[in-house]
Amino acid sequence: MPSIFSKIVSGEIPSYKVAEDDRFLAFLDINPLAKGHTLVIPKKETDYIFDIEDDEYKELFLFAKKVAKSIGKCIQCERVGVAVIGLEVAHAHIHLIPINGIYDIDFSKPKLKLSQEEFQMIAQRIASKIE
Ligand code: 5GP
Repeated sequence: MPSIFSKIVSGEIPSYKVAEDDRFLAFLDINPLAKGHTLVIPKKETDYIFDIEDDEYKELFLFAKKVAKSIGKCIQCERVGVAVIGLEVAHAHIHLIPINGIYDIDFSKPKLKLSQEEFQMIAQRIASKIE
C-alpha cells in the first residue's frame, strides 16, 4: 500500500506544496512545530532514509538545502533546524523547522493549529523565494 506521502505525491491527498521537481517534493507539515515547518521527501518511496541510494540521498539533501534557504528568507528565525525522525510515516522525509532555540525543535511539544489561509500564505511565501 502506498504511504500517506506517496498519496500526497500522486495528489490523492492534498498538501501545501512549497517546492517540487521530478524527484523531490517539499510541503508544509500538517501538525507544525513552528510556522514554516516543512517536510522534504523523495517521490520514490523508501521507508528508512539511510536505505536511500547514495546519489538520490545527496540530491535529497541538496533539494532540502534550497528549501531551507527559502524558509530562512521568509520566516523570522535564528536558524532553520534539520531533523530526521521517521517514526510516524514510513516514507523517508527531512523536517525543516524554523528555530530560535533548542526548545523549538522538541517533537513532544503541542503542535500549532493553523488555518487553511495561514498554511496557504506560508507555503506561497516560501515557494516564492525558492531559487
Ligand atoms: P515522523 O515520521 O518524522 O515521526 O513524523 C511524520 C510527520 O509527518 C509529522 O510531523 C506529521 O505531522 C506529518 N504528517 C503526517 N501525516 C501528514 C499528512 O497527511 N500531511 C502532512 N502535510 N503532514 C503529515
